[in-house]
Amino acid sequence: MNKLLTLTLAVAATFSVLSSAQASDFPIKDKPITIIVPFTAGGPTDRVARDLAESLRKPLGASAVVIENAPGAGSSIGANKVAKASPDGHTLLLNHIGMATIPTLVRSVPFKVETDFEYLGMINEVPMTLVSKPTLPAKNYKELVTWIAANKGKINLGNAGIGSASHLCGLLLQTALQTDMTTIPYKGTSAAMNDLLGGQIDLMCDQTTNTTGQIEAKKINAYAVTTTKHLTIPALKDLPTLQESGLKGFEITIWHGLYAPKGTPPEIVKKINDALKVALKDPEFIKKEEGLGAIIISDKRVEPAEHKKYVASEIAKWSPIIKAAGVYAD
Ligand code: ASP
Repeated sequence: MNKLLTLTLAVAATFSVLSSAQASDFPIKDKPITIIVPFTAGGPTDRVARDLAESLRKPLGASAVVIENAPGAGSSIGANKVAKASPDGHTLLLNHIGMATIPTLVRSVPFKVETDFEYLGMINEVPMTLVSKPTLPAKNYKELVTWIAANKGKINLGNAGIGSASHLCGLLLQTALQTDMTTIPYKGTSAAMNDLLGGQIDLMCDQTTNTTGQIEAKKINAYAVTTTKHLTIPALKDLPTLQESGLKGFEITIWHGLYAPKGTPPEIVKKINDALKVALKDPEFIKKEEGLGAIIISDKRVEPAEHKKYVASEIAKWSPIIKAAGVYAD
């Protein structure tokens, strides 16, 4: 055996011993697990992470699961932070459909969704709702369409930045209604919701986990849901779907998943995935999420490989739609 090969094998053996040692020590005592949320605190992605934290901490045996918000650029900033983090299982990313839309929407995204992450499993699916500021006069979808036509060029639509779910939904809406609105990007839809409540923006399309409370309290107007079926939760059950309201083929459902930096040892990936499966069955977590219209994943997409396949299928689904809408950012 030549010297170089011997050295290479020795280094590889050292790394594999190190990686299994790291894996058996995981989670490191007294070192919290940090879940990076790539949007502002108080919004729907943040809510999933905070709802999940304790349900995940217990089966993982971690000292703490803390949430860190790293918002901006439609989730790219937070996702990039995790892509470049130490692959020791202590820094994770909780992100949404942006994982599948960013590769098409943003030309210079500084990471690769397909290869820079270990996929840990899918968490939930969440419908979206089309909502408006409280003072907007339209009281149902039909009146909204009339109002939109009468206010061409004057309408502000809030979103959480290019590549976000609200951006994608707004894009589909403008395409379907053949109208242009001025999009106002925020770093998350909790911030956008504040301005919707205050009347600084007119419209928004956002996850039910951010809008249900405000709809229930009658603080904003709600016009339709983006799913193909009606929702069952009391505050939203009377809302029509956008499809039946006349927007043929309109369907968008948001999902959330959990990711670790590429190179996280497979034993750690398995430990986190095992804990995630327990967390997704925690009645407390289910109650918090399903009460706001989310559906917790109970099918094979909780498996890392299946979630990865699903994200790839979402990239394939959304890429031509986004390209046809012609929206790109650098
Ligand atoms: N709902 C946001 C979006 O539009 C993200 C967030 O604030 O959670 O993507």
